[in-house]
Amino acid sequence: MVVGFSLPPMTPVTGPPETMLEKERELTPMLSQYLELCAEHEDALVLFQVGDFYEAFCEAAEAVARICEVTLTQREDSTGTYPMAGIPIDNASGYLKRLVDADYRIALADQIEDAAEASGLVDRAVTRVITPGTVVDTALLDSGSTNYVASVAESDDGTFGIAALDVSTGECFVTTASDRTGLTEELDRIAPAELLVAPDMESVEPTDASAGWSATDPAPELFDRGAALSCLSGYLADPADRLETDAELRACGAVLSYAEYTQGDDGSLEYVSRIRRYDQREHLRLDAAAIHSLELFENRGLGAGETLFDVLDETSCALGRRCLQRWLRRPLVDREAIETRLDAVAALTAESIRRAKIRELLKAAYDLERLVGRISRGRATPRDLRSLYATLAVVPELREQLDEIDSTVLEAADDRLDPLSDIAEAIDTALVDEPPMELTEGGVIRPSYDDRLAELRATERAGRQWVAELEAHERDRTGIESLSVGHNQVHGYYIEVTNPNLDAVPEDYTRRQTLKNSERFYTPELKRREDEIFGAAERADSLEYELFCSLRSDIGDETERIQQLATAIAELDALCSLATVAAAGDYIRPTVHDEKAEGLDIEGGRHPVVETTQESFVPNDADLSAGEVAIITGPNMSGKSTYMRQVALTCVLAQIGSFVPAEAAELPILDRIFTRVGASDDIAGGHSTFMREMSELTEILHDGTENSLVLLDEVGRGTSTADGLAIARATTEFIHDELGAMTLFATHYHGLTTLADEREGICNLHFAATREGDEVTFLHRIAPGASSASYGIEVARMAGVPEPVVERATSVVDSVGTHSGGTAADSTPVSSQSSPKPDRTDRTSEAGGTDTDTPSEQTGAVDDRVSYPDEELDAEDNRASYPAEEFFGGVGDPAVDDPLDEESMVRVAVALRALDVASMTPLEALNTLDELRSELQ
Ligand code: ADP
Ligand code: MG
Repeated sequence: MVVGFSLPPMTPVTGPPETMLEKERELTPMLSQYLELCAEHEDALVLFQVGDFYEAFCEAAEAVARICEVTLTQREDSTGTYPMAGIPIDNASGYLKRLVDADYRIALADQIEDAAEASGLVDRAVTRVITPGTVVDTALLDSGSTNYVASVAESDDGTFGIAALDVSTGECFVTTASDRTGLTEELDRIAPAELLVAPDMESVEPTDASAGWSATDPAPELFDRGAALSCLSGYLADPADRLETDAELRACGAVLSYAEYTQGDDGSLEYVSRIRRYDQREHLRLDAAAIHSLELFENRGLGAGETLFDVLDETSCALGRRCLQRWLRRPLVDREAIETRLDAVAALTAESIRRAKIRELLKAAYDLERLVGRISRGRATPRDLRSLYATLAVVPELREQLDEIDSTVLEAADDRLDPLSDIAEAIDTALVDEPPMELTEGGVIRPSYDDRLAELRATERAGRQWVAELEAHERDRTGIESLSVGHNQVHGYYIEVTNPNLDAVPEDYTRRQTLKNSERFYTPELKRREDEIFGAAERADSLEYELFCSLRSDIGDETERIQQLATAIAELDALCSLATVAAAGDYIRPTVHDEKAEGLDIEGGRHPVVETTQESFVPNDADLSAGEVAIITGPNMSGKSTYMRQVALTCVLAQIGSFVPAEAAELPILDRIFTRVGASDDIAGGHSTFMREMSELTEILHDGTENSLVLLDEVGRGTSTADGLAIARATTEFIHDELGAMTLFATHYHGLTTLADEREGICNLHFAATREGDEVTFLHRIAPGASSASYGIEVARMAGVPEPVVERATSVVDSVGTHSGGTAADSTPVSSQSSPKPDRTDRTSEAGGTDTDTPSEQTGAVDDRVSYPDEELDAEDNRASYPAEEFFGGVGDPAVDDPLDEESMVRVAVALRALDVASMTPLEALNTLDELRSELQ
């Protein structure tokens, strides 16, 4: 039994608290109101405004206290004591983020009338529901990332409609998956923060549980066809025509109604103006396994490491960053579109100085996509509009730079950079240069913008001027030198006279306030002026507010133009990023062709990520004709996985329109990339079982086409050697014979290498290593032909297996004639490297030459593909079942001077080699280790 820890599943504490429900009748009016709101928003955690705080009660309070690390207090009234926890409204963002990150949906119940004016209980209502997928507050979002809420509905014909919406930017798209696998794959790619699944279908789980989305149980009405149609008609002209299936329609309607519901008062999502429908075939399909194992966005290793995205991301603004992310999630398959991007990257790569200037200018670009959302929800602040203005202000400069670059593609990009001068002017004439944070306190709009405003501000100014002069005037009139004029919030303007001078106070002064050492007065004129000043100021402030709102809504009408500009800026930034990486990393422009017969030819290719972390990275060629399968062998750590991934990444890069790390590259346009990493190579993932490996394999065998690239890395390891080899072999044959997909298969099954002799279009490649005495150094260089062996014994030595065991194992291996590149093989003649497919006689003679007892002389020999005749291959794979006597040929060898019992050492060595570590549980491993140790005592 495997011992492990499992945490209880999290159950969000939502719905009305039990303790309150029990006392429903006796609760104070405020708590009844709370209870009511909780009942209306059963699936959410209600945060209830009480003055300057959002409060939660009972179980919810405990959750808030724990997650937000705030103090749990008590609220006491005549009906009882209730746990309570609150977060300050002024500073709520950080706390809300924690709650959302913990997968809570939060209903914000705000006071919707002024507490000072309310008679009795203040009215409250839920103004917004915040959920992981529908967050819009900038403070709660990662600035350069997308944040989708997605929804799925099933059609009668078994296909699935999928819709996704980024509420913060208004990006919305719809597609169909033909089956469940396609569905999971698409969702993995979208990586929604939240998923709504139609109640009439089975639930959907992410492939990678750790990257899980938060599934929401939506109200059934949400997916009703009629409701979806009516919701959609607010966004699309002919929804039923524009969308392909009913499932698409229902999914899209559901996601939009859900988003409307969460935005509460701000319900309208007018900025969702472009709902895009695409076919899955329009992109290079990368399923979760490929995205994961190619480390496009996340690093698989345990330590922090770079991903492809990290390497590519030299963007200057959030718009560009998100754009680059989208490109990488959905590489292109349309040759023209790929070439267009490549053209632009080429032009920008050549212009390093202008590119640097453009990137500098782009740093000023504000997140227009999210801004548009805020404008249209009526949440954009004066400062937001000023930032829009600042962005628009750099557009002409951007265009100037682009004009200077000679490129048709960039000219087109240039044309799309509309500086929106009308909007810029509208903002600049209306808003002051540096508006305050608060919208309601005035000082936002230039007085010159509106005559009424100018008049009110003039009146206010004149009044203040009069007051400013009042002090001198009154000192003069009364002869009181210490007389002063002041102002405070409660009493307004006053004239202050110290006690010794009170005799000199004139008749028209009225007493306002008595202090310890002085008295404060006002005069009828001062009172009149005061009313005038504050009246004018108040009216001016509210007029400013009105003017601002109307400016904002005018700009809201221009949403589409701003969105277009945002897209143009985003793409320019992403292209500059690719060009910057290409220039700095010495990438070249790939040649991309869509004729299937061409295959793939990379010269001097590098792994874009590994090369940045490796001191000296060894470039390698890759040359596969269409439909070719390459079996890659070589010792552990020799570079097999890196090599295969670099080939796939080179294709991905080319298909997003990027240059590639190589000296030359001719690439096909792939429709899909499949990667399958065998159990032993994905131990870090922790959840790779043989079963899962096999079901993933099934998927390739079903869906792969002759335009697919398949990477198989140590597949078939999670079972017995014989089964594993059999499966690996059958798989390879099927892929080769039936699918015709280009395939790279890294394997430790040397038995597989004979396939190259049997079938046209299967070749062997291997990674060589040099030996200095007993030490193995990896060359990381790919070469034709199969490798000699797995170097298992050297690895055992590196891992610290005692020397006698290593030596003994070596002689055992040699005695059965399966030369394995071990220490005794130092004497092995170096075989030819050139022939990709060694013929049989050659190999037989080589194996025959494996003479165990010749003393070692050679050092630094290149050990190359020493292969075995077929009979010996079988022997290797069944070595564990050989009768023990067979191995004793070397016992008593004078070279081994060892106090340990040799027989047991041999048994241990044999047992060790036969172990299938990948399929053992930790407990089994421990037990086996213990047994082996007792064998040696
Ligand atoms: P394998 O799959 O054969 O066990 P990997 O591909 O995981 O080997 O490579 C092992 C390590 O070798 C990598 O982590 C990397 O550090 C290094 N390596 C791989 N390929 C190269 C190369 N071409 N040049 C330099 N170092 C490399
Ligand atoms: Mg590997």
